[in-house]
Amino acid sequence: MNNNLANIKKSIFFLNKKECVAIPTETVYGLAANAYSGKAVRKIYSLKKRPRNNPLIVHYYGLNLLKNDCELNKNFFILYKKFCPGPITFVLKLKKESLISRIVTNNKKSLAVRFPKNKLSRKLLKLLKYPLAAPSANITTKISPVSKEDVKEEFGNKIKFILNGGRSKIGLESTIISLVDKPKILRLGGIERARINKALNKNIRYEKAKKKITVPGQTKLHYSPGIPIKLNTKKSKSNEAFILIKKRKKSCKNYFYLSKTKNLRQAAKNLYKILREIKNKNYKNIVVEKIPNIGFGETINDRLKRASGK
Ligand code: AMP
Ligand code: MG
Repeated sequence: MNNNLANIKKSIFFLNKKECVAIPTETVYGLAANAYSGKAVRKIYSLKKRPRNNPLIVHYYGLNLLKNDCELNKNFFILYKKFCPGPITFVLKLKKESLISRIVTNNKKSLAVRFPKNKLSRKLLKLLKYPLAAPSANITTKISPVSKEDVKEEFGNKIKFILNGGRSKIGLESTIISLVDKPKILRLGGIERARINKALNKNIRYEKAKKKITVPGQTKLHYSPGIPIKLNTKKSKSNEAFILIKKRKKSCKNYFYLSKTKNLRQAAKNLYKILREIKNKNYKNIVVEKIPNIGFGETINDRLKRASGK
């Protein structure tokens, strides 16, 4: 049997037993479990040390199962046709008759849903009779994983299986948009804001972090390597890791390039990988060159600010 298919079958075996399995997605790796099962979903919270009031995103293959769980509206269909499968999460009204465990939603009347693009995970979702609750496969507040090795570093042997789908192509979490009332963006992510505005033909509001947390992606310290980070810096000291967005004339062993050509999509893909590398090299400080605040740059700046606790 083909290796991928054997690994998908292995994932199904553990998921059917209400265990957690790490799955690849184009954004970051997810820690997945049967979204209909309270027992399975509780394991996600305990493995991640995630507070119960942080609801999870549920992953679907397509609309078949989703129709039983959420009210689908016009804006949803426009964005679904344009961007799915892809790095966008929709917050929709939850149907009363939905089988989704209320632990997934923390008893909210809405549900966050997504259709990941990674081929292996799509094949897995297609074969399952239930959708998968899957937050990022990292310990809460730490750096999100973008490869099988990163997941291993986070959880060691505590999880039953990691489905290896190679490096995540986008490398940053999905954009979250609430479509319950007037559309609003709750978290910047893998689809640029301008593209969503264009698709819906209006300027969608972005709701920045408030005191009351609606989304953990809005909490202050998040995506953190646990090292102080200083943004918009021109120079570095010899003991500091310096994150750069374009090539410098002189190179130095403390330089970490998100991109050598100011390519923001490439920079997004490299961000978590580089933060993890810097953490593992035991630097005491990180300084970052100014990153243009447009397109993916806006999301990169958002994550760096959170990682620095600002
Ligand atoms: P993670 O997968 O770890 O990046 O986190 C999932 C994100 O989806 C978190 O920021 C959640 O708060 C958010 N989320 C999940 N369900 C809802 C919901 N019903 N309303 C708003 N945000 C949600
Ligand atoms: Mg996360």
